[in-house]
Amino acid sequence: MGEKDHWQQHIQKLHGESIPQAEDLSEFFARWRYSGRFRDLGKPTSTCGLCANTGLRYQFFVVRQDTGEGMWVGSECILNFDLSKEAVQARIRSAARQAAWQAGDGVDEDHLMAMIGQLQTIYLQANAGEQRYLRWLVGKFQRRNGFSPKEIGWLFGASLACGVRLDANLFPMIVRTKQDRQELGSLSVNAKNWLAQGTGEKDWVEKR
Ligand SMILES: [Zn+2]
Repeated sequence: MGEKDHWQQHIQKLHGESIPQAEDLSEFFARWRYSGRFRDLGKPTSTCGLCANTGLRYQFFVVRQDTGEGMWVGSECILNFDLSKEAVQARIRSAARQAAWQAGDGVDEDHLMAMIGQLQTIYLQANAGEQRYLRWLVGKFQRRNGFSPKEIGWLFGASLACGVRLDANLFPMIVRTKQDRQELGSLSVNAKNWLAQGTGEKDWVEKR
């Protein structure tokens, strides 16, 4: 069963007859907005209201515009919802004000939201496989506090293809393993130049 089928089944179970059988998912998502409410549970203990994924720490509250009903979804599923450009811009500014990315006890809320807001532009132009990869990247970012050079290369390529200018400050690169170092060697000069505009640069300069 594909992931889309899984979603559709879950959405139908959740919302009963309010969702017609044949409804396109994009129509479903268009009715919902991100409310701006975010919560960090401190531990990976919650469940996504959309995909029923468990083990979530960060949650976003989305509201259905026509009925007012709300649900908490995880940071991967939030990519599908309308995020409100103003809210995302404010987060991007706030995250950029911070001197540097710090891998502390969890992900900074502004950073996560700003990153998701930027990735969404790519996400909305991506095919189903690329969307899956992007959701997976968001989850992995939280576990690892950064991206591998190969992932950075992918993101950079996708941003060029979509005509999106990603803020390098929001995409820290982690170089820890031998494989990371090999991947770093294969990263294009353009991708490295892009990284050098952000705090992500520091990480690879210090460790190579
Ligand atoms: Zn989910």
